[in-house]
Amino acid sequence: MKGSLAFLVAALLPMAAAVGLPRNEPVPGGVAVIALPATATSPRVHFDGRRVMVVKHAGHWYAIVGIPLAAAAGTEELAVRMAGQRPRQIKFSVLPKRYPEQKLIIKNPQLVNPTSAELDRIEREQAHLRKLLDTWVPDRTPALAFIWPAAGPETSGFGLHRFLNGEPHSPHSGIDIGAPVDSPVRAPAAGTVVDVGHYYFCGHTLTISLGQGLYSVYCHLNRIDVKRGQPVKQDQIVGSIGATGRTTGPNLHWTVSLNGTPVDPHAFLIDTSATSPAVQKR
Ligand SMILES: [Zn+2]
Repeated sequence: MKGSLAFLVAALLPMAAAVGLPRNEPVPGGVAVIALPATATSPRVHFDGRRVMVVKHAGHWYAIVGIPLAAAAGTEELAVRMAGQRPRQIKFSVLPKRYPEQKLIIKNPQLVNPTSAELDRIEREQAHLRKLLDTWVPDRTPALAFIWPAAGPETSGFGLHRFLNGEPHSPHSGIDIGAPVDSPVRAPAAGTVVDVGHYYFCGHTLTISLGQGLYSVYCHLNRIDVKRGQPVKQDQIVGSIGATGRTTGPNLHWTVSLNGTPVDPHAFLIDTSATSPAVQKR
C-alpha cells in the first residue's frame, strides 16, 4: 500500500523525479559518471570540445561522459562552466580495458573492400551520421534506463577488434542481437526519431534521440515502422530485424552514442536477464 502511494506521488511530480544514473565504467568505450560542484542551475560541461550530458540525481549534478574507444588510459579533463563563476577544469581517470578479437568471413568481397564510387557514398553517409550523433539536444530528464530491444541473445560484443577475411577493421561500435528476420525491435527508452535511412554498411537504419547527445542507432533492419520527427515510447515496436547492409546474417546491430562517441549499451541496461540469457552470463 505504501509502495503504490509513493509511486502515485512520483507519477504526479514528473519534473521532480530523479534521473537514474548509468553504470560508471570510466574505460575506453565506457561511460564515466562524474560528480560536479553544487550549484543552483545546471553546469555546462564540455569534454574534448563536445557538450556533455549533465543530470541531477538525488540533489547532485553529474556529468555523464562517453569515452571514445580510441582513448588511452590516463587523466582526462572536463571543462565546467557554472553561472556567475569562472570556468574550471575537473580531472578524471580513464582506466585501461582490453577488448577481445573477432574474426569474420564476409562472402561479398565488395562489402569488405568497396569500390571508389562506393567509398564516396560511405564517406557522405558517415559524415551525415557523425553530424547527427554530434548534435546536443536539450532535455532535463534524458532517458538513461534502457530495455533489451529484441527477443534474442547477444551474438557479438561491443568493442571487439575485428578482422574481416583476415584484414583488421575498425572495432565493433555496438552489440549484435541475433533473432529471425522480422522479429520485432523495440525502442530502448522514450525519445524522438531523428533519422531513417538506408546506408551502405548499416542497411535500413533508425536513429532515436534520447536527449542531451544520447542516441540509439539500429542497423540492418528489415522494416522501419516509424517516421522522422515521431516521438516513441519505451518498449514501442519501431521496426523489425533484417539482414540489410554489411552483415553475416539477420541481426540487430545496436549502437549507443553519447557525446558523439559509441559506448557500450550495457552501461544503460538496467536488467537484461529477462530476455537475454547470453547477456546474463557476461
Ligand atoms: Zn554489429
